[in-house]
Amino acid sequence: MTPPIATDESPAEAASLPAWSPSSWRDRPAGQQPEWESEAALSAVNDKLAAAPPLVIPGETRQLSASLAEVAQGRAFLLQAGDCAESFDSANPQSIERRLRVILQMAIVLTHSAGVPVVKLGRIAGQYAKPRSSSHETKDDLSLPSFRGHIVNLPEFETEARRSDPRRIDEAYQHAATTLNLLRAMTQGGYADLAKVHQWNEAFVAATGVGRRYESLADEIDRALRFMEACGLDTDDVPQLHEATLYTSHEGLILDYEEAMTRLDPETGDYYNTSAHSVWIGERTRELAGAHVEFFSGIANPIGTKVGPTATPGEVVELCQALDPHRVPGRLTLIARMGANLVTERLGPLVEAVAESGHQVIWATDPMHGNTFTAPSGRKTRHFDAVEAEIRGFFEVHRRLGTWPGGIHVELTGDDVTECLGGSEELSDEQLGLRYETMCDPRLNARQSVDLAFRVAELLREQQG
Ligand code: PEP
Ligand code: MN
Repeated sequence: MTPPIATDESPAEAASLPAWSPSSWRDRPAGQQPEWESEAALSAVNDKLAAAPPLVIPGETRQLSASLAEVAQGRAFLLQAGDCAESFDSANPQSIERRLRVILQMAIVLTHSAGVPVVKLGRIAGQYAKPRSSSHETKDDLSLPSFRGHIVNLPEFETEARRSDPRRIDEAYQHAATTLNLLRAMTQGGYADLAKVHQWNEAFVAATGVGRRYESLADEIDRALRFMEACGLDTDDVPQLHEATLYTSHEGLILDYEEAMTRLDPETGDYYNTSAHSVWIGERTRELAGAHVEFFSGIANPIGTKVGPTATPGEVVELCQALDPHRVPGRLTLIARMGANLVTERLGPLVEAVAESGHQVIWATDPMHGNTFTAPSGRKTRHFDAVEAEIRGFFEVHRRLGTWPGGIHVELTGDDVTECLGGSEELSDEQLGLRYETMCDPRLNARQSVDLAFRVAELLREQQG
């Protein structure tokens, strides 16, 4: 794909636009960028990363594009899931394994129960930057820069912790690399083998109703594998049964990092952001004339943008024109995050306007970010029922319009945390304090995640039936 050429402009207007380059975003207003404490240190990190090995290569990214084209055309489903804010400390084998296994569990539930291929895209190996509603946080008389994710600073409310140190960008790259290395090894080296579906069921999940439901699904998969072998099929010859592909994604927020990781692919002449297979634009940085839309418009990776309840049909179509000028099916994922009580009202007009515009986008639902509230205990939380209700609303709108509900985008962890209310275990506000570990937003725990997968699988089955 060549850098975008604005097709609607007269030649004179088009000629006056500076050409896209990995750094052309610098001429636009860039929201949510930290005030780095040293420009010289920032430049040094940018130079270092620009010469560093890519984390992913264009060939893999093109495979994701091909799979997402299938999603856009209603033949596959997208599962985008992972942490709200990954911690540098979570680049350890236990945390990586637990996050991978819950994503594998959810994907197998969706594939088995709904019978559609599932494209697995982690919010992982790079999800280190957070947009914030205020640039500063004030407690008593002290005002400090907000915590913006581990790529920028630390969450502790202390002057030293909140310094924006550019060297953290380099650390983010290193942690993403080690995380991705283990993910690649595990998905290709036997861990994701379908013969191991039982082993993905963590003890604290297995002991519950949803865990038992998963166990019986795993039994069925075992039986299917034995059946194939009994029929004389040598399953060793079928790599799809022994390996999985987990693609990586994060919010492409810190543009210095994203630019430094962007490389010209000599094979195609296109620019690829090699920090992840896919990146998305957050709800707070999707303004049409802003730096993020400019940067994202020129990279060949499949990309996403969040779409919240204030988005108008006209605005969303303009975003499609800017981000998907060549109308490539699946290039752009619109991640709707409306809130459970607004989704049925607000989503329909957007889906209709985009369909009319001819852009073959993927519509995904983020049922988390429009449903956050502060519980009486004072903790930021989300209720499982609201998460499920937003997904139901999303499916309902697509059923009404005859369009494909392409995927879900959720914040989760493989750990046994107590951050979101409800679910089959009926987690209560009093229990939130037990293991409330998130650095930013409340995440579904592994039980709630598998539970949600079963419910989405039912909706997908209804959609097809
Ligand atoms: C996020 O996905 O972590 C996020 C900040 O979402 P949004 O941009 O939709 O608020
Ligand atoms: Mn979040």
